[in-house]
Amino acid sequence: MWKGNIKIGRVFQIPILINWSFALVILFIFYASTTRNFTLQESIAFVGYVLTLFLCVVLHEFGHALMARRYGIETRDIILSPIGGVARLESIPEDPKKELMIAVAGPLVNACIAVFLWILIKMIYEGGMFPSSMENLRLLVYPSEFIRFVFAMNVALFIFNLVPAFPMDGGRILRSLLSIWVGHNKATTFATWIGKGLALIFVIMAIMNSQYIVLGMIGLFIFMMAHSEYRNVKMMAFLRETKLSDIMEEEFTRIALSDDYDHVLNIYNKGEEKNFLVFNAQGQIVGAIPELFIQDYKKNQEETCAVSDRISAGVGVMEPENSLYDAYRFLNAEGISILGVTLGNTIQGVLDRNMVERLIKKGKY
Ligand SMILES: [Zn+2]
Repeated sequence: MWKGNIKIGRVFQIPILINWSFALVILFIFYASTTRNFTLQESIAFVGYVLTLFLCVVLHEFGHALMARRYGIETRDIILSPIGGVARLESIPEDPKKELMIAVAGPLVNACIAVFLWILIKMIYEGGMFPSSMENLRLLVYPSEFIRFVFAMNVALFIFNLVPAFPMDGGRILRSLLSIWVGHNKATTFATWIGKGLALIFVIMAIMNSQYIVLGMIGLFIFMMAHSEYRNVKMMAFLRETKLSDIMEEEFTRIALSDDYDHVLNIYNKGEEKNFLVFNAQGQIVGAIPELFIQDYKKNQEETCAVSDRISAGVGVMEPENSLYDAYRFLNAEGISILGVTLGNTIQGVLDRNMVERLIKKGKY
């Protein structure tokens, strides 16, 4: 889904990308304009309205991104697709108050725009705050109606995003508020159930009355997203709560600098171990032999060479008390295949990248 994004610019050092499926929006504009026999002016006003809608969505995302920056969290990019915008933050803060502030900042932007337009409409025009007909898009050619449409749109964005279900901001707000009382994990479970319950109500409403068909579709979407968010959080909790001492492999082969590759290949072929740590004569870790090196050696069948000739400096050590989360991040950031788990100067076990990935894939969380 995220493939095929086109970069359209960079604001506050944050790249803004547009998904290819945005072409559907252009198709929709074209379709709506022709079926309603819009004049050229009406079509231009309609396009202007759609662009304004996406501008408001971008501003909403910048609300999240800039609030996150206040807490030292950068935003990788902001992606726009026909179903909305996403600000992809580098990480989600663990402090519920920070998460709350970041989640609130988006809808707050729409609230501010709405208040600003409310004042503007009250000052300049007579009559109500909302367009005289929400269905009649022809009215968009009149500035007084255009501005009312934009006001209504921001009110809708504000309310929609506050629906207390993932992936809406309201879901995150609810979760962070609950987190303060019951902790992140339980809060996610509660928030997920509330979101799923709400989604179910939307779907039932749609079944009972076809007028609510769009609401029903939103309900289905919320239901699926709530579930995947729940799985995500569960996995993060598993990574955070698991200590290296719980999962490290205590039985492993120590490769000496003086060994040769045939020896390593022999052990590798037994299938139990894929990546190896290399020790010097004093018993200190001096490097690693990643699976890649062994496969390369196996394929090219070179004359046997010494371990000391082909050794990767990419090796790290962590303590048994470190979490699997820290280790996984470290492995990925440094491109390391095996970690030594050491306490003081003694090695207690190893953590292999394959092992971690197997655990995650199994869904053991
Ligand atoms: Zn948002």
